[in-house]
Amino acid sequence: MQAVQFSEHGDTDVIEYGEFPDPEPADDEVLVDVKAAALNHLDIWTRRGLPGIDLEMPHIPGSDAAGVVTEVGADVDRFEAGDHVAVSAGVSCGSCEFCRDGEPTMCVDFHILGEHVRGVHAEQAAVPADNLVPVPDHVDWEVAGSASLVFQTAWRMLVTRADLQPGEKVLVLGASGGVGHAALQIAKYVGAEVYATASSEEKLDYAEELGADEVINYEQEDFDDAIRDITGYRGVDVVVDHIGAATWNKSLASLAKGGRIVTCGATTGPNPETDVNRIFWNQLEVIGSTMGTPGEVDDVLELVWEGEFEPRVRDTLPMSETARAHEMLQEREGFGKVVVRPDSEL
Ligand SMILES: [Zn+2]
Repeated sequence: MQAVQFSEHGDTDVIEYGEFPDPEPADDEVLVDVKAAALNHLDIWTRRGLPGIDLEMPHIPGSDAAGVVTEVGADVDRFEAGDHVAVSAGVSCGSCEFCRDGEPTMCVDFHILGEHVRGVHAEQAAVPADNLVPVPDHVDWEVAGSASLVFQTAWRMLVTRADLQPGEKVLVLGASGGVGHAALQIAKYVGAEVYATASSEEKLDYAEELGADEVINYEQEDFDDAIRDITGYRGVDVVVDHIGAATWNKSLASLAKGGRIVTCGATTGPNPETDVNRIFWNQLEVIGSTMGTPGEVDDVLELVWEGEFEPRVRDTLPMSETARAHEMLQEREGFGKVVVRPDSEL
């Protein structure tokens, strides 16, 4: 088969699209004929190399994909050939104390397809059946292949971890980005009042289209000042932060007394200075969140398949142009998911 792959870490020029041995599904795995696969920022970190992660080379990147089942392992009874499926990339051991307690995303051996082990940006992928979600036939391949990672992440952040309630005020940072645009849609669905930040008029217009009650251009004003103005110095109940160092203290300063900040990532760096006084005096909660449980994935993707939530697709490229797709993400050209499809599908 043809697969996106790299044999060493580095810039986009390490990415190749070429021959790779056909995957053989293990007893608990399903062979998927990939139709569309989305990129995430994680693909860029993985390509550059992450501390503590030693990949088997050549590595196939990619955590999001959708396609058609062509073969199932001996122990698989949830799927059969011809089914449409989407990949959910979080893998847990099933037997540690956290897995046994119903918290697979806290598994001591938790890992992500495409980040720690070979991923799904290829013509075919052998994926554990537990990591597949059924997709109704009417759903477009671009939608099916681009929703899973960002929507499960945003759903767990807001619904499970922050326990967002109708009427609460939420600030979504980077609301046109992958997790941001999912969080904005989910917060509106829950019935929250949503404030959104973005860096251009086009992105702010998009956030308003998705239902943001107020939008803030963070290139033109400090978003914590804007939040104080909008809320009459009260602040918001929840901040969704996936940006990290560049926003952390302003995020804390945007919170009302007793507010919660929920984080799933740090694209601008993981080591911000923190104003501890603000945390204890205002009795703030700092909440971490990673990926989603199978139940959370089912809940949120059902709403995507029904059309309640929509992943925005920026562009679709042939897999042979995956290096270009990485560049679009890392150079922040436009916004929305970048999708790649096997050249043989185009
Ligand atoms: Zn476990």
